[in-house]
Amino acid sequence: MKNLKIAIQKSGRLNEKSVQLLKNCGLNFENYKSSLITTVSNFPLEILFLRDDDIPEYVQDGIADLGIVGENVIVETEANVRYLQRLGFGKCSLKIAVPSHSDAKEPADLNGKAIATSYPTILKKFLDEQSITADIRIISGSVEISPALELSDAIFDIVSTGGTLRSNGLVPFADVMTSEAILIGKNGIENNPVVCELIQRIQSVLRAAETKYVVLNVERSSLADIITLLPGVKSPTIVPLAEENWVAVHTVIAEQDFWDKINKLKAAGAQGIVVMPVEKIII
Ligand code: ATP
Ligand code: ZN
Repeated sequence: MKNLKIAIQKSGRLNEKSVQLLKNCGLNFENYKSSLITTVSNFPLEILFLRDDDIPEYVQDGIADLGIVGENVIVETEANVRYLQRLGFGKCSLKIAVPSHSDAKEPADLNGKAIATSYPTILKKFLDEQSITADIRIISGSVEISPALELSDAIFDIVSTGGTLRSNGLVPFADVMTSEAILIGKNGIENNPVVCELIQRIQSVLRAAETKYVVLNVERSSLADIITLLPGVKSPTIVPLAEENWVAVHTVIAEQDFWDKINKLKAAGAQGIVVMPVEKIII
């Protein structure tokens, strides 16, 4: 049987995390910067390194079976592909921004204005939904300088921290979409057993990234209080310590309320708290 192919970004913001995710899934491969394709030695998969803009169409057309790409690019290319898994990295927002001195106050004020963007399809959809008629100017790079050059009255672009906007005298005006990296597949591929296996491995890596393994010591008299602070786990592991009346509690804690939990555990009598990363959670 022929190996499946997965397309990932060759270089850029998604490259490193895409490679890391596949490696964390236990896939062994050489990652030569010069090569466009590499074979995974311990899984029936080949990896194609491409420009991100080409990935959705390559997957739609079956040149690659799978791809990792930003949702913004999938929506912009209007490729007919299947969303298999949100990946939680490459997060960004796409916003309309205007010069800080602009008199535009609400979306309708964009009527008749020129908006520069590299994402004309997404912008057009948004403007149509709001019944706004604006002049969309397609620019492939450095969109944010176009108002200063009087090429446009506004821009529509990716914004992460807003620093680039600020340094160009722009302020966010309307949020249009948020995006993150997505594992996509050509239609029908979701039933392939190799794809199912890969998705399962990716999910176990994503779950693990959200959790920490915690070991703490506590006196038996405080154990009940400690357990009530750990509602997320079915049943923590309790191990007796050499010192009488003391036990070690082993459990996993979600990253997002980690410090809050740790402080509460300390207040309830937990001592010697050891926190470890979790590599995979298989359920
Ligand atoms: P390529 O050479 O592959 O065409 P590119 O220059 O178009 O690369 P990058 O800048 O590497 O693309 O961004 C790739 C993707 O990373 C974006 O499409 C978006 O989904 C995501 N992303 C996350 N944060 C940001 C950000 N701050 N700026 C730009 N893209 C971001
Ligand atoms: Zn690109």
